[in-house]
Amino acid sequence: TTHQRVALVTGANKGIGRGAAEQLAGLGMTVLVAARDTGRGEEAAAGLRAAGGEAHAVTLDVTDPATIEAAAKQIEETFGHLDVLINNAGITGSGQVSPADADDQVPSSVDLDMVRAVFETNVFGVIAVTNAMLPLLRRSPAPRIVNVSSHAASLTIFSDPHGPLAALLPSAAYSPSKTALGALTVQYANELRDDGILVNAVAPGFVATDSNNHSGHLTVAQGAAVLVRLATAGPDGPTAGFFGEEGRVPW
Ligand code: NDP
Repeated sequence: TTHQRVALVTGANKGIGRGAAEQLAGLGMTVLVAARDTGRGEEAAAGLRAAGGEAHAVTLDVTDPATIEAAAKQIEETFGHLDVLINNAGITGSGQVSPADADDQVPSSVDLDMVRAVFETNVFGVIAVTNAMLPLLRRSPAPRIVNVSSHAASLTIFSDPHGPLAALLPSAAYSPSKTALGALTVQYANELRDDGILVNAVAPGFVATDSNNHSGHLTVAQGAAVLVRLATAGPDGPTAGFFGEEGRVPW
């Protein structure tokens, strides 16, 4: 019998995560649509099935260890393994695209509770979900982990006062959270290299979703494509890298 390829996408009920789930289902993978709200997850999974995909909803709040454990147990019992984990769920705090003088974004006056909340989801949530899913990923012949980062994570890019992100002044919460996610990506990749688990970070580009009030210039399908490319990379695929549609993104 052929191996059933199973992919879990966090925050897959809408936006880029949902787009990635659709594309993976289109490639014949069984897609687990993880959502913190069960109803929203069920609705998205039903949409994927209506389009001919194999999809199931999984309740998973990346900040709630009980739901993470329950999701891992459910996947273990139903499939016994996991091939792809896309850590997509993320929040911006009050938004990375605010004007440069937005008081809640600059480090000197940022709301520390907001910073904590952003790190809880964008960084600590990724560690919690990854560690819960690793035993299942180890049972895959070609395990892949994709961490959804941002160009706003790149110290090289946002430290340039004349660079493309200078006018946006990436948030003191969001940007550092994604930079930390990059560091974690490299550490996981190095630890798991000998186990054949490829771990990469991706920057989808500025995609029109609820997270930016649909001001992004890329479609969800365009943004999701780079997630899917790394999620389905072959045995010679990269690890410990950072990629956008344009190719490698500097850390
Ligand atoms: P959306 O706001 O459209 O979607 C975010 C998703 O994450 C939703 O499904 C949301 O669930 C989910 N989510 C938030 N918090 C949690 C949580 N605690 N547990 C589980 N799920 C959670 O945003 P995007 O699609 O734009 O963003 C997806 C990823 O892409 C994020 O990591 C973001 O930082 C990144 N990104 C986006 C860019 C863009 O231009 N859009 C640019 C660069 C990076 P719910 O519906 O319940 O709120």
